[in-house]
Amino acid sequence: MKCFRHRESDALGICKNCSKGLCSECAIDLKDGIACKDTCREKVERINAMISSAATKGRHLVLALVYCTMGIAFVFVGWGNSSQGPVAYVFSIPGAIFFAAGLYYLLAPKFASKN
Ligand SMILES: [Zn+2]
Ligand SMILES: [Zn+2]
Repeated sequence: MKCFRHRESDALGICKNCSKGLCSECAIDLKDGIACKDTCREKVERINAMISSAATKGRHLVLALVYCTMGIAFVFVGWGNSSQGPVAYVFSIPGAIFFAAGLYYLLAPKFASKN
């Protein structure tokens, strides 16, 4: 494959935005792929930023669900054993901490996007 601008130069790869062949002179390396130096660079950077922020949100949601579920499970075990005194506290306290961590992960991305 040849560069779309320089017919005599071999292409290093293709632009992530417009899929044209690019030589070392025309391409800019954006870690996560290459793009046309002047025309597509901003677009590809924006796309990469969007993808990584979506991935972060997805991870946060999974963590939030895991922590909330664990928190609720611990609290239920604690309540179930509340007649046995201290056991209830032993389970309820980490349960509350897990639940709080879950809520944090659920709400943190919203706080972050406001700023
Ligand atoms: Zn391009
Ligand atoms: Zn070129």
